[in-house]
Amino acid sequence: MPTLVLKPGREKALLRRHPWIFSGAVARVQGHPGPGETVTVVDAQGRFLAQAAYSPQSQIRARVWTFRQDEVIGPAWFRQRLQNALALRAAALPPDDTGRRLVFAEADGLPGFIADRYGDTVVVQFLSAGAEFWRGTILDALRDLVPAAHYYERSEGEARRLEGLPPRRGPLLGTPPPPERVPIREGGLTFTVDVQHGHKTGFYLDQRPNRALVRAWARDRRVLDVFAYTGGFSVNALAGGAAQVTALDASADALALAAAHVRLNALPADRFTPLEGNAFQVLRAFVQQGRTFDLIVLDPPKFASRAAQVPKAARGYKDINRLAFLLLAPGGVLFTFSCSGALERDLFQKIVADAALDAGRSGHILADLGQGPDHPIPLAYPEARYLKGLLVWVGDGLRAGRADANPPAPPG
Ligand code: SAH
Repeated sequence: MPTLVLKPGREKALLRRHPWIFSGAVARVQGHPGPGETVTVVDAQGRFLAQAAYSPQSQIRARVWTFRQDEVIGPAWFRQRLQNALALRAAALPPDDTGRRLVFAEADGLPGFIADRYGDTVVVQFLSAGAEFWRGTILDALRDLVPAAHYYERSEGEARRLEGLPPRRGPLLGTPPPPERVPIREGGLTFTVDVQHGHKTGFYLDQRPNRALVRAWARDRRVLDVFAYTGGFSVNALAGGAAQVTALDASADALALAAAHVRLNALPADRFTPLEGNAFQVLRAFVQQGRTFDLIVLDPPKFASRAAQVPKAARGYKDINRLAFLLLAPGGVLFTFSCSGALERDLFQKIVADAALDAGRSGHILADLGQGPDHPIPLAYPEARYLKGLLVWVGDGLRAGRADANPPAPPG
């Protein structure tokens, strides 16, 4: 087998079971491995460290399949890894929820491979050279373990580009294309998923536990769902008895689907207001108009995909959170999220605290929020934690009387 020899001292991360080998850690390559081929990784003294998938074009030069020498990377091995991933979901998710991430790449010991199930449709993504190399093997095993009417591929985006792979999308393995809107059940509610064109593979499965929490908090509250997409939070708020829900998003298509989901679940459409616009501008306008809400969800897109983008992203998060604090009535609650993996949880909390301070509000963290259990976080690979959130209670606030502070809501 071809061999990757590391520079002296560069084995530390692997010894802690972290699955990435960066190009700068590699002293030399023995043999001529092609993209995705399995290589043996050894330290500078030639001691075995791991078996990994070689990726000649990527900064992440190899991704570990196994830290054991006695395992053979092949059909039986992939089947075993997939079975482990499926067992975790079966144990951790409500059986009636028919949308779920089945495989979460590195987090399930299958670097670069993602599989999401939406009812009778499975959407797969091969995002690394190694996953691409084994695509036939992985698909055969998965299809055997998870029989579904439709298999659809969405191998695209930045990750794939960095691996030197062209984007690839379409129905797989002779299965017919999935319907335009694939129905799923979550928490007893129905959503539909556009697996061919939607964000990621179509739905933000990672927010499952937080949608349930919003539902539990929504009763009689005036809700503002910012970055609402297809209304996951909005629909849950209505199901939880919200007095009013305003869903704000830049995408008219996403909002049309959100409105459809309100109807589909027989929820009161007269309590639902979709609003197309730029969140930063609309929230500013709301502040000027003196509008108030009792529950605000902030679930923005990823502002930082790299460490270098964190300072700029931090300003964006602070701005949006400051506006949200200004819009919250006494007794209001804020569900605020960041899905930027590059931005750490502690920094996110500081940003939210600064935003409250600037808004002249006090607050208490009632819960630390994160991705659901179908996006598990290996102890040895904490980078898998990318979604973080806070549930903040804004009591009666610290009415600092600043010039930009929110005037009280008009009676009624
Ligand atoms: N909360 C959603 C997921 C949000 S994804 C859910 O649980 O399903 C981020 C959303 O933000 C996308 O729908 C995108 O259209 C929207 N968006 C991105 N930039 C925006 C902006 N500046 N103003 C309003 N919406 C924006």
